[in-house]
Amino acid sequence: MQGVRLVRPSAAQSEQMKNVDIAIVGGGMVGALLAALLKGAGVEVVLLERAGVIPPHADDPFEPRVSALTRASENLLRHVGAWEAIAATRCCAYTDMVVWDANGTGRVHFTAAEVGETHLGVMVENRLLQWALKEVAIASPQVMLRCPAQLVALERLPERWLLTLEDGEQMAARLVIGADGAQSAVRRLAGIGTRDTGYEQRAIVTTVRTELPHADTARQRFSETGPLAFLPLRTHGGDRHSCSIVWSQDETEAQRLLALDDATFCRELGQVFEHALGNVVGCDARFSFPLRARHAESYVREGLALVGDAAHAIHPLAGQGVNLGLLDAAVLAEEIVRAIGRDLPWWSEATLARYSRRRRAHNALILNSMTVFKKLFASSHPLLVIARNLGMEATGKLLPVKQEFARVAMGVAGDIPAAARQPV
Ligand SMILES: Cc1cc2nc3c(=O)[nH]c(=O)nc-3n(C[C@H](O)[C@H](O)[C@H](O)COP(=O)(O)OP(=O)(O)OC[C@H]3O[C@@H](n4cnc5c(N)ncnc54)[C@H](O)[C@@H]3O)c2cc1C
Repeated sequence: MQGVRLVRPSAAQSEQMKNVDIAIVGGGMVGALLAALLKGAGVEVVLLERAGVIPPHADDPFEPRVSALTRASENLLRHVGAWEAIAATRCCAYTDMVVWDANGTGRVHFTAAEVGETHLGVMVENRLLQWALKEVAIASPQVMLRCPAQLVALERLPERWLLTLEDGEQMAARLVIGADGAQSAVRRLAGIGTRDTGYEQRAIVTTVRTELPHADTARQRFSETGPLAFLPLRTHGGDRHSCSIVWSQDETEAQRLLALDDATFCRELGQVFEHALGNVVGCDARFSFPLRARHAESYVREGLALVGDAAHAIHPLAGQGVNLGLLDAAVLAEEIVRAIGRDLPWWSEATLARYSRRRRAHNALILNSMTVFKKLFASSHPLLVIARNLGMEATGKLLPVKQEFARVAMGVAGDIPAAARQPV
């Protein structure tokens, strides 16, 4: 295997080494879901997470990292039994989505009613999601959480992978799954390259409070400087004046916005958002992330697979990142369970290739569409401005087109694993 050292431990070393069936590196949202989905599969799973998972509380301030979950992702969380804990803490189901172009008249308003649904998606804080999934996973005696535990080395044994943790502990796993995020150590140590596109932009994220209630509506304004999203949050008591914002800007402008005092930042933000929710009356601490599209050149090797951001990182403008990752986890679990049920080698490249075939092309399509979308909206060329406004107008007027857009946004179009389908 290119770039990977093949080691042959002595008989004494082999005897001392802990053997596990599956090691999932990264207990983020995607890794924790995968562990939860595999808990009844009859294999021993070790979940390695380098950072602590703090139990959330309904009265905590909102976390800056929040995900817009599709209906397919919500179905997955219900399927594994993590939903009750999330709903009992806090989340915000949104019924409407409004998207508009700052340079024209283009505006589309999607509603759940138009597609015969109660809501289009749900906003959930990342930490709450990760914690709820982890709790479900570790309730099974077949899943063991090791935290804090950081993977630092990965070597190939004749039939297993040898994992070395930061504290020097070693374990051998038949299957290693890299769920360790955009900077994946598993991907790097396995010698899997990536294709990268830098957007030369930074996303500013924070929680803001607005003069007007958000009415359970997700809003996104597009302009040539970058998209600005106001995503609705709801406190445990039901207050609807808080939104999570994701504001993508060129590097220098982002640095200027990050350096502003809170009052000036809120004023500028309110103006750019065209006071769609009145004045922005307050904001929490601001954080920022560089934006880039990154796709792993391969998702699988013999005994190794990548899922979530370890496999693909995407522009947050369509809020698809974690949703793609959760579907990766569901499809991979489905293929592993299928192979176990048929007494096939569930760790083999042939089994894992089925997962890759079902996910890689779909993820590539979404990644490429986001890049094209981003370029389309980044242009102030008059013809492109007219075209995108006409496109929005047409989408807004044609119900079947709108319904198809809404189905894609809800994550219920295409090859959906059984666990992500609507429960009947
Ligand atoms: C500004 C911004 C806004 C976004 N908004 C949305 C949104 O609205 N909707 C959406 O769907 N997505 C959104 N995303 C994307 C989303 O956050 C990611 O897709 C998601 O976090 C990926 O989940 P993951 O579990 O694959 O990786 P991560 O969340 O990165 O988790 C990886 C885990 O692995 C652990 N880890 C890393 N290295 C090691 C190691 N060596 N050993 C052990 N553990 C390790 C980490 O501690 C972490 O817990 C956004 C992203 C950005 C940047």
